[in-house]
Amino acid sequence: MTDPVYLSPPDIGELEESYLVRAIRAGRFDPDGADLRAFEREVAARVGVDYALGLSSGTAALHLALLTVGAGPGTVVVVPTLTFAASANAVAYTGAEPVFVDCDASTGNLDVDLLSDLLGRLAEAGRRVAAVLTVDINGRCADYDRLLPLCAATGIPVVEDAAQALGSTYRGRCAGTFGRIGIYSFSHNKVMTTTGGGMVVSDDPALVARARHLATQAREPVSHYEHRDVGYNYRLSTLLAALGRAQLTRLDTMIARRRALRDRYAQLFATVPGTRILGAGDSGSNCWLTSVTVEPERTGWRAGELAEHLAARGVETRPMWKPMHRQPVYADRQVALTGAADQLFATSLSLPSGSALTDEQVDRVFAAITEFLDGRG
Ligand SMILES: *Cc1c(COP(=O)(O)O)cnc(C)c1O
Repeated sequence: MTDPVYLSPPDIGELEESYLVRAIRAGRFDPDGADLRAFEREVAARVGVDYALGLSSGTAALHLALLTVGAGPGTVVVVPTLTFAASANAVAYTGAEPVFVDCDASTGNLDVDLLSDLLGRLAEAGRRVAAVLTVDINGRCADYDRLLPLCAATGIPVVEDAAQALGSTYRGRCAGTFGRIGIYSFSHNKVMTTTGGGMVVSDDPALVARARHLATQAREPVSHYEHRDVGYNYRLSTLLAALGRAQLTRLDTMIARRRALRDRYAQLFATVPGTRILGAGDSGSNCWLTSVTVEPERTGWRAGELAEHLAARGVETRPMWKPMHRQPVYADRQVALTGAADQLFATSLSLPSGSALTDEQVDRVFAAITEFLDGRG
């Protein structure tokens, strides 16, 4: 059988190799290494924020971002139920209680009406809400036009989980910059990667300084080892930052390739009644993953059947995230639900979306989908 086609493989080549070799030859590997500082400056400039802090993962970045806005025992953090577990886990690390809120069925992003009701109920119950954590799902920004005024009116800081959305824009502004503090992930399957890594971004110098302090073992600025807080070892390796710098120069090209793939899927499924592309028509999305939603009553087939057909031909797909309120680890938490996330989990499939897919691999994916559709048509 031919080589498998993965959902979102890393897009790493000769440019990355040359940056890494240069970083190794520079011979300085501590967190003050030139590549880490430069990577932070370059990402900050790219997305239009004053400060950035390179970290060992997006999850670490979320953990620190939440700590800096005051999440901790006795507080609540509102989290979309349709997300990757890291969003909820980072809340749990701080000791705050995650409360899950459902999504909008057409975008997969946080349902703002439901959030509004929920914040009212939490206030009535006397709960202290430390933050609303927004997630820009599959690279599409949440509905910030409505979200930001709502949170501002209640004085609750927004923390933006833009792990999937580096390079996306909303009304001309970059994903990651909508909250008091935002985060990116450079995990191996994200739109650009350091194989493992993350970043905190903010215009607030105090928040980023606090995150930097916590990320480096909370060591006080004296010559001996002095610590007033429990710190973490969360900094990004400067070698991996060099890899990130190479990736950043190619970010727009890699996004263009994902977008072209999204457009091709959209064209194909536009001819299939009962299917739709999640978050379609958003020109600001980085198109990290393209997910198709299938209404079996209209198509006569389920998303899972397409997944099986593709798997048999070496093409990887994946269901949307299983909602957090369905996860055994978070089963007994407070929730505000409409059923939209459950519905998307049951009916949606993420398709190969990576910029590293070769033309030949993409053609194989489309041939396999077309073969499936012809067999069902
Ligand atoms: C990938 C991801 C994370 C975690 O990032 P890591 O770098 O893998 O720790 C957090 N939130 C969301 C929504 C993600 O997709």
